Amino acid sequence: MQLSFVQKLLVLTMLPLLIAQFGTLFGVMTTAQNEVRETAIKELQVAATVTEQYLVSRASRLQQAAQVLSADYALKEVFSFGDPASVRSALINHGSRIEADFTAFVDLDADEQLAVVSDQAIEAGFNAYVNDQAGASDAMPAASIVFVDSQFYQIFSAPVRAPTTIGYLVFGIHIGDEFATSLAELTGKDVAVVPNASSPGALGIANAQDKKVSNWVDGFTQTGSVYSNFESQNEYLAIATALMDADGSVLLVLRKSIAEAFEPYARAKDSILGVGLLILTVVALLGTGLARGIAHPIKQLTAAASKIAEGSYDTEIKSSSQDEIGRLAAALQTMQTAISERENKILHQTLHDNLTGLPNGEQLNAAIGQSLRIPRVEFSLVCLQLSDLQRIFSLIGQHAAEEFMLGLCGLLRERLPASSVLYRTGTHEFFVLLPECAVEQTASLMASVAEDLRTGVRYQNKSLLLRAHAGIAAFPEHGDQRESLIRRAKIAAVDAESADHATQTFQAGREEVFERHLAIANELPLAIERGEIEVHYQPKVSIQQRRVHGAEALVRWTHKDFGFMSPEEFIPIAEQTGTIFKLTQYVLNQSMATLARLRSQGHSLCMGINVSARDLIEEGLVAYIEYCLTVHQLDPACLILEVTETSIMEDLEVASATLERLRAMGIRTAIDDFGTGQSSMAQLQNLPLDELKIDKSFVMPMAEEASCETLVTATIDLAHRLGMTVVAEGVEDAYALNCLQEHGCEVAQGYYFDRALPEQAFTEWVASFRPDQFWTSEQEQAGKTAGA
Ligand code: C2E
Ligand code: CA
Ligand code: CA
Repeated sequence: MQLSFVQKLLVLTMLPLLIAQFGTLFGVMTTAQNEVRETAIKELQVAATVTEQYLVSRASRLQQAAQVLSADYALKEVFSFGDPASVRSALINHGSRIEADFTAFVDLDADEQLAVVSDQAIEAGFNAYVNDQAGASDAMPAASIVFVDSQFYQIFSAPVRAPTTIGYLVFGIHIGDEFATSLAELTGKDVAVVPNASSPGALGIANAQDKKVSNWVDGFTQTGSVYSNFESQNEYLAIATALMDADGSVLLVLRKSIAEAFEPYARAKDSILGVGLLILTVVALLGTGLARGIAHPIKQLTAAASKIAEGSYDTEIKSSSQDEIGRLAAALQTMQTAISERENKILHQTLHDNLTGLPNGEQLNAAIGQSLRIPRVEFSLVCLQLSDLQRIFSLIGQHAAEEFMLGLCGLLRERLPASSVLYRTGTHEFFVLLPECAVEQTASLMASVAEDLRTGVRYQNKSLLLRAHAGIAAFPEHGDQRESLIRRAKIAAVDAESADHATQTFQAGREEVFERHLAIANELPLAIERGEIEVHYQPKVSIQQRRVHGAEALVRWTHKDFGFMSPEEFIPIAEQTGTIFKLTQYVLNQSMATLARLRSQGHSLCMGINVSARDLIEEGLVAYIEYCLTVHQLDPACLILEVTETSIMEDLEVASATLERLRAMGIRTAIDDFGTGQSSMAQLQNLPLDELKIDKSFVMPMAEEASCETLVTATIDLAHRLGMTVVAEGVEDAYALNCLQEHGCEVAQGYYFDRALPEQAFTEWVASFRPDQFWTSEQEQAGKTAGA
């Protein structure tokens, strides 16, 4: 059972009081009971003594009276000569003077009737006794207890002498109710006369209500000692004395009721209880009042706390008291304010960007939803991608980044119309919501903002250049759903970035491309893991020696939905999404395994493997190549890693360091797609490169365009001068081959020989390779003519 505060307080005040009261009462009552008992015992003993003395004195008085009367001359005359009627009359006359209950004369000379009794009613009974007695002895006892007609009598007798004993004068006192009552009055105790077990079957007499006096001797052991005795479950203390010393046949029992003796105390107990109850009631009332007085403010505080728990913080928590409750109320008020402030702060944080304090994506969603609810009001949504931010942050550090961002936001806010709202939704992504702004207007506005950023954001007296790409989607042209508008603005921004345009409005159909892009990005890592990516090998032929030089490893992916996919499509996605290194590792391992198998079959070939810009800055690239070389037991010299100009230029320092390390290991390096980038020969000169691959766009059209041939031959020349061997890719015809041969190009690769083939097909191709398949005499002739 859970007690309330009020109940607990009540129990706390009442319980000690109850214990004290009952303790006291119990103590007092126990003492009183003992006291009552002891007093009762003493009283009984005194009463017994008094009774004995009284009886003794009474007996001696009556005996004396009997002696005096028996000596009376006139009486003797009547006894000697009178008829029974005059005897009785004389007996009545004298007996009344000494207050005897009866007077009798026992005539020793009589034949039949021995005794004449003053009370005729008991005469027959008394005669029966006298006859009994006469049978036993001639003489009457001086004092005795007799049982006549079911009644006890105490008798005193004296002989009547004339001069010899003619008879006895007897006084009889009735030991009955009145005797018991008078003794009770004398002693103040209940009195009973109880025949001893040996005396004739009398019931005994008592002055008490209950006449079953036989109960009175329960527990009795000997005369003069107090014993305990029960009647109807009431306890009595009793003491017994023999009614006559000589004759113990009748006991005189004095008794006192303990309950009665205790009565005054019982009344006291009742009043103590009554007073106690009164005190308890008063204390209970006062306690309840006091407890309520304490509990009420606590209840109020509890209610206030519950409200806080429910998230309502406007309850005014106050207490006028200066005590603990008052302090608790003040603490609760402080807590409420603090929680409310903190919650507001958290709420603000969930709706705002931490760094800039701009509203975040959450708010953008809400705002677009709200704008869409206003019918027929156009608006533009701009996704602004500032991809340089990451680079700038790593350059200037976190602390400065915050300052820079605030400056940037200030600038953006300044340049955007007041009605627009700027949101920050990602590290380098912002959104602008422009109400009532058409696409064209938005595009020109964003173009000028981008232009401003391109010229530089001022920061600590420096100007940091930012490339901004804004994607625009407008309601209603580009959608009427919040999600699609946001997605389309983002797609447009990515398109703007890919095309390196300041702004790009969403173009129909771009979403599908993005979806495919997304699917490829998601599925490529899984395809690699599941081994769904294949590596094919395109032959590379040594022109001067007319033999197979090796192969270039090229990835192939047949997607379950999209079918065959060009690496030109998924490689850039792998590069963007960071999957490329995983793919490169896969190709490295696969192609080296193939190369090892080919070499074990006696074909001493080389393997060209493409390495992306991101691979070059990857920590583990060199270690992984080393690992594969060891696993497949390959000579590093038979590996050629192909890198493009652009990938080297992306991070020239790291890329050239990686190339140096690879070269130090004995691995050869090639510059791929030469001629398509912006870098000059001068820049390449300082790079650790062994081979130059002339891009297929120059080689393929050689037969048709003389300018291409000129360019190709010039490149070969230059590469040779820089100490590089030259590979021409995109060799599609004999003309190109012959031309390349003439100009001293070392290796050719192209459809003229074959496309990239699976390992098995490539192995067969190598085995069946015959130079005269590709170098016929007429062709050579034609080639020479063309070259001339
Ligand atoms: P790439 O490195 O320049 O590879 C040569 C590309 O030219 C291959 O296209 C090849 O099939 C094609 N080609 C070769 N000879 C001829 C020819 O005579 N005529 C024509 N029209 N094309 C020819 P593919 O396999 O589609 O690869 C495209 C590009 O994908 C590769 O260009 C390379 O940049 C990339 N790539 C392919 N595999 C990998 C790879 O494993 N790793 C990396 N990083 N990139 C790869
Ligand atoms: Ca290549
Ligand atoms: Ca190439």
